[in-house]
Amino acid sequence: MNVFTGRLTDAGFEPPLLHRLLSPRVSGNTINGVGEAQVRRPSRIYHWCYLTHSVWYPHYFVNMLLLVKATLFHRRFGRIVSAALAEQQKRLRSVASRRVQRSAEDWTREIREFARQSGADLVGFVRADPLWVVDGCEELPGRWLIMLGFRMRYEGMEFEGKHNASVKEGVALETVKVYHRGQRTVNALIEWIREQGWSASGTCGPGASALNVIPPALAAGFGELGKHGSIINRELGSAFRLGYVVVDIPLMLDEPDTFGADDFCTRCKACANSCPAGAIVHEKQLVRGVHKWYVDFDKCMPYFNEELGCGICITVCPWSRPGVAAKLAEKLRAEGVKSRLST
Ligand code: SF4
Ligand code: SF4
Repeated sequence: MNVFTGRLTDAGFEPPLLHRLLSPRVSGNTINGVGEAQVRRPSRIYHWCYLTHSVWYPHYFVNMLLLVKATLFHRRFGRIVSAALAEQQKRLRSVASRRVQRSAEDWTREIREFARQSGADLVGFVRADPLWVVDGCEELPGRWLIMLGFRMRYEGMEFEGKHNASVKEGVALETVKVYHRGQRTVNALIEWIREQGWSASGTCGPGASALNVIPPALAAGFGELGKHGSIINRELGSAFRLGYVVVDIPLMLDEPDTFGADDFCTRCKACANSCPAGAIVHEKQLVRGVHKWYVDFDKCMPYFNEELGCGICITVCPWSRPGVAAKLAEKLRAEGVKSRLST
């Protein structure tokens, strides 16, 4: 067994010795609540949690191994991560003493417009649910969430059966570049809201915060959960990253968006067939009281850590190819109408 680099075998991916030594004995699937019927908050498991600044949780050290390795061996990746982290830690203006009053409709329209002009590709509004906050982290400092989505550039991420160096580099660089861009938009939006006398805070990436971002993004109408564990959006497919801003401004809420992606996943096998770690399964799982698509954490993470963040599953997803998602959503809509008319 290799000390620093893993290898693909007929039985799947074999992580390096260092990874095995740093990994906790407890399964990530157990921590995530697979098989649990009770609804509960997610547990801290992998990323740095900015609001508690704690390192004592199960997969923190393997996550750090990924970052240190990536920063040492891939300078460009390291530089962009550092820039994104600096943006995340930037000191932003304080809340103005005079508070601007507007109707919920006006705030919603103006925030959407500002966020889009500042670089967000998706904007949605949702009431914050305490169940989305990671257990042990502080409560969110506001009642409403502005969810933001940032498109990833597909070129350079294409995967055609071989996870070679250029694909790895393409996905890894594009991911951190999008986080950097997203964090700039998040900061601009926070400052704009604070200028008008309202509190605002939030983040994009890299790393995670106290908020589990997928459930609020689904509630805000960003799309449906795919078999690969990421959201499928009707325009961007799965090639986008999430950010958010927490506020106390009255807002008009968005609704979840369903257009047939969940059902499409029951018939498609592209991500499961391409995942080198065999982490994607064809059946939904019961996870903390919700029956949903779930990626095997213990199989995905070692490969994800090895490859500077993997991303094969979102790249091979047919919805992610440029120009495909909107046509596919329209085709599913037309098929649905046809089948309703014929019954
Ligand atoms: S990120 Fe990579 S290893 Fe993880 S599920 Fe997707 S394809 Fe598999
Ligand atoms: S590749 Fe296919 S099965 Fe996997 S998430 Fe995309 S549509 Fe669903």
